[in-house]
Amino acid sequence: MKKKIFSGVQPTGNLHLGNYLGAIKNFVELNNNDENKCIFCVVDLHAITVNQNPKKLKKNIYETVATFIASGIDPKKSIIFNQSQVSAHSEAAWILSCTARMGWLNRMTQFKEKAGKDKEKASIGLYSYPVLMAADILLYDSTHVPVGDDQKQHLELCRDIAQKFNNDFKVDEFKIPEPLIQKEFSRIMSLKDGLKKMSKSELSDLSRINLTDEKDQIINKIKKAKTDPLPMPSNIEELNKRPEAKNLISIFSSLSGLTLDKSIKEFSGKNFSKFKESLAQVLVDKITPISFEIQKLLKDTYYIDEILSEGCKKADDIASKKIKKIHEIVGF
Ligand code: ATP
Ligand code: MG
Repeated sequence: MKKKIFSGVQPTGNLHLGNYLGAIKNFVELNNNDENKCIFCVVDLHAITVNQNPKKLKKNIYETVATFIASGIDPKKSIIFNQSQVSAHSEAAWILSCTARMGWLNRMTQFKEKAGKDKEKASIGLYSYPVLMAADILLYDSTHVPVGDDQKQHLELCRDIAQKFNNDFKVDEFKIPEPLIQKEFSRIMSLKDGLKKMSKSELSDLSRINLTDEKDQIINKIKKAKTDPLPMPSNIEELNKRPEAKNLISIFSSLSGLTLDKSIKEFSGKNFSKFKESLAQVLVDKITPISFEIQKLLKDTYYIDEILSEGCKKADDIASKKIKKIHEIVGF
């Protein structure tokens, strides 16, 4: 079956190893298969659910596109665009917010985490964000959505919204999309806390490896990464009880293409410092060429503007047809 792929990344700066291993690496593989139709969206409307500096936002939009291309996405083979430029997204989000139920949104864990203790002060956009995400996906009849594990709940919500809309209006308009979440290494954790996911919005830069980091920064961050006082674990059961060790070994396995078992065997009983040297080396080998390419692309924002403007035209063509159909179904 031909797959219609859709996924988004927020232009909130600091694109990191979690974004790469959980999402972008998968985008590249899907994009390399000529059978697939891929759309990759810079979700700038999602970014403004928390305060953004307008100048920085613009720069981050460029940086996100540059990261897609530097990681290996071919802009000739897929549509790359930014969400705010295709007005159907906002419109569909409104219509779908009349389908989505408060009870469903109240269960979303990302809102609880991001809003923190003072929910009353969170923006309404942060709360209704998953409905906009559903609109993004459903406008393009997407069949598959490659995301990191943290987005699984939002994707389930998207499926519920699509199903309820179809049932309410007795139509078959929305395809029910499947998540594409990698079986292993789908949630990379913070370098400072093995129980928290690595995030762009985390204040400490030492908590993540940015895709723009240089060699010395990577080595330094791995040296400072939190570990426990024991030697390296010798089996999976032991590893599962030690979140920081598990995260670091998972990163090593994912980047070096080894199974978790093999990586554990290789370092079993050794000191963390020895392992960290090997980990820093595979990270430097993988990240620095991407970082170099991002910097190079960012010197030519004209090229990035061209990609976005081309992508927006193509996306708008698909989405504006879909929103017309939605209007008819709703009765406008
Ligand atoms: P923010 O903190 O601003 O939400 P983020 O780091 O979560 O930023 P997003 O732009 O929200 O990044 O997510 C882009 C993609 O990266 C999504 O598919 C998401 O599931 C994936 N992703 C984000 N963080 C991780 C992580 N730590 N491990 C694996 N995948 C991740
Ligand atoms: Mg996120």
